[in-house]
Amino acid sequence: MKIFDLSKIIALALLLTLGSPLSYAQIGMRELGDSLMAYTGFSRLWSPSVRVKQLRVSGDNVSVRTNQTLHDFRWTDQNLDSLCRKVSLWTLGHENGKVTIYAGSTDIRTLITDCARGISSSPSKAKDLTERNIVLYPSHGLYFNRDRAEWIWQRATLWTTVEDLYSQEYVRYITRMLENAGANVFSPRAGLDERHPGLSGMPRWTEGARYWLMHQQADSTLWDLYDGNEYKDDMKSRGLWVNSLETDVDLCVALHTDGLDSGDDSTIVGTLVIYTAKDDDGNTVLRDGKDREKSNRNLGDWIQTQLTEDLRTLAPEWTRRQLKEANYCESRVPVVPSIILELLSHKNMADMRYGLDPAFRFAACRAVYKGILRYLNGKEAVVQPMPVHEMAIAPDGTIRWTAPIDSLEPSATPTYYMVYVRADEGEWDVQQVEKKTELKLNLQRGVQYDCYVVAGNDGGLSMPGPMVSTYLAPDEKAPMALIVDAFDDVYGPDWFADSTFAGIVPGTYACESDFTCAYIGEQWDYRRASIWTNDDNCGWGACYRDHAGQLTVGNTRDWAMRHGRALRQMKISYVSTTAGLMTEPDERFKMVDYICGRQRRPIGETQKAMLAAYLAKGGRLLLSTDHFSAIDPQWAARNLHASFYAARATRSGRIVGKRHYQLLLTPNEEQLFTCTPEGLKIAEGAAVMATYRDMRCPAAVGFKGPKNKTLVFGFPLEAVTDFDKIYTSSIQWLNEQ
Ligand SMILES: [Zn+2]
Repeated sequence: MKIFDLSKIIALALLLTLGSPLSYAQIGMRELGDSLMAYTGFSRLWSPSVRVKQLRVSGDNVSVRTNQTLHDFRWTDQNLDSLCRKVSLWTLGHENGKVTIYAGSTDIRTLITDCARGISSSPSKAKDLTERNIVLYPSHGLYFNRDRAEWIWQRATLWTTVEDLYSQEYVRYITRMLENAGANVFSPRAGLDERHPGLSGMPRWTEGARYWLMHQQADSTLWDLYDGNEYKDDMKSRGLWVNSLETDVDLCVALHTDGLDSGDDSTIVGTLVIYTAKDDDGNTVLRDGKDREKSNRNLGDWIQTQLTEDLRTLAPEWTRRQLKEANYCESRVPVVPSIILELLSHKNMADMRYGLDPAFRFAACRAVYKGILRYLNGKEAVVQPMPVHEMAIAPDGTIRWTAPIDSLEPSATPTYYMVYVRADEGEWDVQQVEKKTELKLNLQRGVQYDCYVVAGNDGGLSMPGPMVSTYLAPDEKAPMALIVDAFDDVYGPDWFADSTFAGIVPGTYACESDFTCAYIGEQWDYRRASIWTNDDNCGWGACYRDHAGQLTVGNTRDWAMRHGRALRQMKISYVSTTAGLMTEPDERFKMVDYICGRQRRPIGETQKAMLAAYLAKGGRLLLSTDHFSAIDPQWAARNLHASFYAARATRSGRIVGKRHYQLLLTPNEEQLFTCTPEGLKIAEGAAVMATYRDMRCPAAVGFKGPKNKTLVFGFPLEAVTDFDKIYTSSIQWLNEQ
């Protein structure tokens, strides 16, 4: 064996790079390191470079010793074989040498996981997660800082959120998905159903694990550890608590976000996984006797791989960072397979552009659930269906819905449905439906029915779909309304970037899916050059905290039920449908209530045609939207007798019509708000029905034709504090002869 001769690699490099403009004089161990680094695709933003410490060639045997960096790469048989052929070529001049590469003292071939080989780690033949015990918890949380005598966040407050609550937002969704697959899920931090104030005076779900364990009367040896340093207590308590659980815990995931900043607004930091190979005493096995590094790395690989694959369908540039062995308390202490997941960087604008979009978060949550499922069940795994998206109920009591398709997961096809029905807001009654996507209910007159559907298969149950609702008044001659729920959008806030300033467009807010617990206040620092100095002075991206601990309501997808309640009070019969299952309303329907809410997408072509045909037959239409500007203007002028006139048409939210109304314009716990109220312009023959008080421009336009009637609003009626009043008076006007 001989220590590598530099002249040889120079000669070979010459041979290999013929025709390229490389500077040959620089080729050597450093260049080999650079080539290895380039091979990993790792960025120097978050990874040290690969350094080659030693290169030995003996006959056809090549051994490369490097620093730790290559340990953090996800190796597969394919990518490692391919790299070895390259190294062989670079060093021996042919591809057939026997190459061994070390990261530190580890032969990197030993780092190839079961996940990378597509091998299931458990002999289970289970398809779902029944009887699995999973620890999944959100990072950080408020803690009491004794020096400051104050409860403070553990992380910086940026981009309208803080990791302490942002992680909670993911965990509550993933927990539901895991539970829908049959798993028992445990957390040392209070879940969102803990709305009572904790020690901090804030809801318990905002506080760190230390306080929840204390509240649960867990042994103080789990959380009183560092002589009053409650920050350290909180961190350490989590792993100790995992080990104290009576149940056999299958795995533990600590869900964090990272604080790394790319310095610009477009470079994604991405997803990092951290695990620990040795415990405090240097033990390398878990409680079940299995190798720590193998188990933990494998768990991390399943989750990180699934996240990367799934997120790239929404964000093609999404970055897979390291699968990193490092010594962190949260991954070191548990004696079960455990990882720290750093899902994205909460400091980095490019990450948070995605991270504030509820659709992106849903995909990320589903990916974490799928990663856990595959880690435990391998190829046997069946993924629970996506939620049902479209649903309708007809006057004869027939409920119909569409089968949800998951383009990423063939196994996620539903095989049955659970139909939830309640009468007059009583208990939910559940019926299972096989093979079909409809169910006939026996409707009684005088009773309000609300329904939604959950799709199921061998993997478990989906999240719930939209709610439809119906009420047939006791009087058969009562007018009948069709409620069309066309509000299915969710989206993040708007963003901007110029050379000096960048961030969230002031006054724009996400349209959340159902609600969020992560919104804490508006961004105020837009200056790229502002640097972080401390967590109360966080630099570029810094936000206020006036909403921390509050929930923010978004698209709850139960709009038909809410509108229906008011119709019932008016003794009007109704049925409802989501826009995708709408059929052309016939003469049975005295009126159509078309709910756009905060829908950004324009009204679809088929829906426009159906509404136009309905109006031409003498129909009556109520339509409210804060994106009137998204509606085809010609169609709107002809059929709605109004056109878009002015954006941001009120700041006070005061609306004056027959009465005064208050429109909600900012995130709140009570109900939907709008941040984009629009002013309207009347078409010929139409009349202004309401005005934005401060801007003095039309907020609602009514039209009374010889046959038909329309009433349109430039804001969602659901965002008015007195929804019932404005809705009732609108329906009354429409219903008058
Ligand atoms: Zn963290």
